Amino acid sequence: MKRQLLRKLRKIVGEGHVESSTEDMLCYRYDGLERGAPPDAVVHPASVEEVAELVRAAAAAGKPVVPRGAGTGLSGGSVPLTGGIVIDLNHMNRIRAIDRENLIAEVEPGVINWDLKTAADGEGLFYPPDPSSTRVCTLGGNIAENAGGPCGVKYGVTGDYVLGLEAVLPDGNVIRTGGRNRRDVAGYDLTSLLVGSEGTLAVVTAATLRLLPRPPARRTVLLSYRELAGAGAAVAAMASSGVTPAALEIMDGITIECVEKYRPGYLQVGAAAALLLEVDGEAEGVDAQLERARAACQETGGEIVFTASDEQEAEELWESRRAISPSLGRLAPAKIGEDISVPPARVAEMIGRIQAIATDHGLTIAVFGHAGDGNLHPNILTDRRDAEQMRRADMAIKELFAAAIELGGTLSGEHGIGLAKAGFMDGAIQAQALGKMKEIKRLFDPDGIMNPGKIFG
Ligand SMILES: Cc1cc2nc3c(=O)[nH]c(=O)nc-3n(C[C@H](O)[C@H](O)[C@H](O)COP(=O)(O)OP(=O)(O)OC[C@H]3O[C@@H](n4cnc5c(N)ncnc54)[C@H](O)[C@@H]3O)c2cc1C
Repeated sequence: MKRQLLRKLRKIVGEGHVESSTEDMLCYRYDGLERGAPPDAVVHPASVEEVAELVRAAAAAGKPVVPRGAGTGLSGGSVPLTGGIVIDLNHMNRIRAIDRENLIAEVEPGVINWDLKTAADGEGLFYPPDPSSTRVCTLGGNIAENAGGPCGVKYGVTGDYVLGLEAVLPDGNVIRTGGRNRRDVAGYDLTSLLVGSEGTLAVVTAATLRLLPRPPARRTVLLSYRELAGAGAAVAAMASSGVTPAALEIMDGITIECVEKYRPGYLQVGAAAALLLEVDGEAEGVDAQLERARAACQETGGEIVFTASDEQEAEELWESRRAISPSLGRLAPAKIGEDISVPPARVAEMIGRIQAIATDHGLTIAVFGHAGDGNLHPNILTDRRDAEQMRRADMAIKELFAAAIELGGTLSGEHGIGLAKAGFMDGAIQAQALGKMKEIKRLFDPDGIMNPGKIFG
């Protein structure tokens, strides 16, 4: 059976575009954080037609299909649970067009986020969604996770930029949703339904994305705090100041120390917290904006450590921010990276809860994230070989989610549910709403072949 299916897959995508050796399959057990079962085969299609044929072949053989981009996901979305066929979209990586007049990009799913940003920038345009994995993650993965990033506080997340999609359904048919219109209220919004669906409804094979004119000026400032709570309180102070920053990123003392060891720069080791603040806009108004934003941060105890004087220095500050995840890996053999989201005014309170949970369970929890829009990443630093510590970490995770929900927040702000949080959906989503989500899944995928086990367990 397996040999027959492999032959069929090779016929669809060509001999060199199917992998099935044990060694290769082991690599696809993992994403950025989670691990599952090795797939039966990995295929690298080059067109929507090939993807459609692959999905049909998998359905006929009763094999699960797992779409995969760069595998940087942090919730196990691209990790097979029970084998099946991984459809790796990395070969479909063309930016087909950048339409300056309509501020639109036409892309394939395997385009790297940074490559689209760079291409747009070359045209004086701006593609805002900026996950810290920007240099490696794919737009297909961003769409499937509705990925965000630091500039989400002002510019929103991936879903705010997706105008239209082409995708292959679990029966092999191709669906086209939305289009090139900024305003489009014709019928149900299927584009938004597919965004954030984590590859459980369809395989995205092309996207029409909205671009913006590039903001002419930006100012980037690093502030240091003696109290972590002060940095959290700056979020509410910022809202009262009337300034919407382009980014407001928080790092606690543990995070600062790790990043500085890994990539020495401007962060102040010994500080309880740092905020990375950016404002952007027209050159004439940007300094006044910065002044007000800075005053809001200083009101809650922030001291300015560094002001970037040019684009290069600003980019260096951002490289330090992007270095957080890899640098934390040096402090402990493993980390459990969480992704809770609370209303911005509750950030300070949520930080207090995280610290209390860490103390109660004798754990080290580093805290960083997109404080400006309430999305925090408590990272529990662990050693998977220490069963007793893992048990405490499990309890801490449950308490973190419970605290976020109690404060009006939710399980994930950007990393998705995947395998990692499927077990917590019941407590986070109203029963009626969760029931409708499951009905939608069954409607799209009655045989349950599309990325099974994700979101709903
Ligand atoms: C260091 C680091 C920093 C990160 N920072 C951020 C951050 O700031 N913000 C953020 O949001 N995330 C962040 N992430 C998480 C991750 O990078 C994002 O979730 C990203 O969107 C995943 O893209 P990917 O191409 O790696 O997708 P994968 O990990 O390969 O897949 C992710 C999900 O998308 C599905 N999928 C992939 N391609 C398709 C497709 N074409 N059609 C349908 N489904 C598809 C997969 O099945 C899976 O469910 C970070 C990860 C790392 C390792």
